[in-house]
Amino acid sequence: MTGLVIVGHGTRSAAGVDQFAALVERVRRRGDVGDVEGGFIELSRPPLTDAVGALVARGHRALVALPLVLTAAGHGKGDIPAAMAREQERHPGLSYRYGRPLGPHPLLHDALEERIDAALAGADRAGTGLAGADRAGTWVALIGRGSTDPDANAEVAKVARLLWEGRGYAGVEPGFVSLASPSVPAVLERLRRLGARRIVVAPYFLFAGVLPDRIVAQSAEFAAAHPDLDVRVAEVIGDCDALADLVRERYAEALGGDIRMNCDTCAYRVLMPGFADKVGRPQRPHDHPDDPVGHHHHHGHAHDHGSVAVVGGGPGPDDLITVRGKALLDAADVVVVDRLAPQGLLAGLRPDVLVVDAAKVPRGPSMAQEAINAALVSHARAGRRVVRLKGGDPYVFGRGHEEVQACTAAGVPVTVVPGVSSAIAAPALAGVPVTHRGVAHDVTVVSGHLPPGHPDSLVDWAALARARGTVVLLMAVDTIAKIASVLIEHGRAPETPVLAVQDAGLPAQRSVPARLDEIGAATAREGVGPPAVFVLGPVVALTTTGPTA
Ligand code: SAH
Repeated sequence: MTGLVIVGHGTRSAAGVDQFAALVERVRRRGDVGDVEGGFIELSRPPLTDAVGALVARGHRALVALPLVLTAAGHGKGDIPAAMAREQERHPGLSYRYGRPLGPHPLLHDALEERIDAALAGADRAGTGLAGADRAGTWVALIGRGSTDPDANAEVAKVARLLWEGRGYAGVEPGFVSLASPSVPAVLERLRRLGARRIVVAPYFLFAGVLPDRIVAQSAEFAAAHPDLDVRVAEVIGDCDALADLVRERYAEALGGDIRMNCDTCAYRVLMPGFADKVGRPQRPHDHPDDPVGHHHHHGHAHDHGSVAVVGGGPGPDDLITVRGKALLDAADVVVVDRLAPQGLLAGLRPDVLVVDAAKVPRGPSMAQEAINAALVSHARAGRRVVRLKGGDPYVFGRGHEEVQACTAAGVPVTVVPGVSSAIAAPALAGVPVTHRGVAHDVTVVSGHLPPGHPDSLVDWAALARARGTVVLLMAVDTIAKIASVLIEHGRAPETPVLAVQDAGLPAQRSVPARLDEIGAATAREGVGPPAVFVLGPVVALTTTGPTA
């Protein structure tokens, strides 16, 4: 079963660390989420790197990383992914699926309701004239951490509303203990002016910590200044079954695939009034005191949130990309696309996705690959998810590995998603099986870019001529006549059947059949142009034609 690493931010509160550890232990005891470890990205022990290291030592190469945060702000969006990227550098080959932040979720709202009820227990004696169970006379101040990320603050407002719906409180008002307004005293004052006599301050926090303590202190101060008010502070959510249930749910969701964060209103993606500086800002991990990497100063590279996926898009039609490739494309911020990549997929990208046409990358043709590599690296370093969308398979004459090497050299996390190569798919789409029992036991994929005899050519044309099986030639429109005559010269039969397949999988697809000794002339006569593959050998005689072709 896929291992789970529960990632906390870290706190100076010993009680908070204990609650985190207790929750990890609770999840572990239940035994329904595989192997579990928990770690912190700063301040507290154990550091994330130990948690990941323990899972890797037990043989895990794929993990679910679940940020134990209520709302997606800087920690969930940037710091934790950045810390995980550092772990991936440490453990080459390690992959992980990133879970969604916990809230809003009904399990959390129910837990908050329980904490509020517990705070109200015994309230009858408080001299407000309100019974303890009198929710209609009870106002709730729901206090979040507060963030410079407006979207995260909006989540707290949403939870306040959801907590109020149907539960019968006089009202639930959101407030924040840091960075955002209204502050705790401000929201309490607001409720007082609305005529509240009893207020329960409910911290929207998972565990004990410096900020929940501050909520208690500020509430007590306000209560002392207003002796006519009954102000109570509820406990934090804490280690409990509801939280363990939610962890399991987020784990299952991450394994299931389609994880959507609240990207629509994310300040790192979308220009929000007053937050323009956040758009595209790179993310860097915090330095954990126990993590040796933290003491080096690797500024500006290797630790950003961004990444590159070199994705094979298949031979051209929109639906011959892999499911994995499509998912990465859907999540991309930047797509650097080749001319032969499936162009139809670009129409489905969100309007805010930056599409870079690699064919039009500036600088001269000899510099083009270098410029593409530089673009991949710089977008990833700026914290963006980059997809390098290529035609066919990235490693079949696609220069995909040069891009992977460039990313690796720059310390940018990079993955490769294989694709359906035109070498195999173009013959298939034209009705030719590249192998067939009793007919061909080998298939050789050859670049025709350099003609036979070219000093830089690495192809043994004579050996190909002697072989009996299938040869598939790519990039050979200009060289096919020369190639055919060299193959015949070294022993291939002149009557060997060849099929030229142009624009495979696209509406313009067409095939031109010919004998090996006539394919050069046929190509010129019929005006076969790129992209085209030539498939030659006895399998071509099996070509399916008609409705199935
Ligand atoms: N990585 C690609 C190949 C890149 S080289 C792959 O795996 O398919 C480019 C060559 O691929 C073209 O010159 C042509 O020979 C072939 N090719 C790509 N798409 C094609 C298509 N739709 N139909 C026919 N040939 C295609």
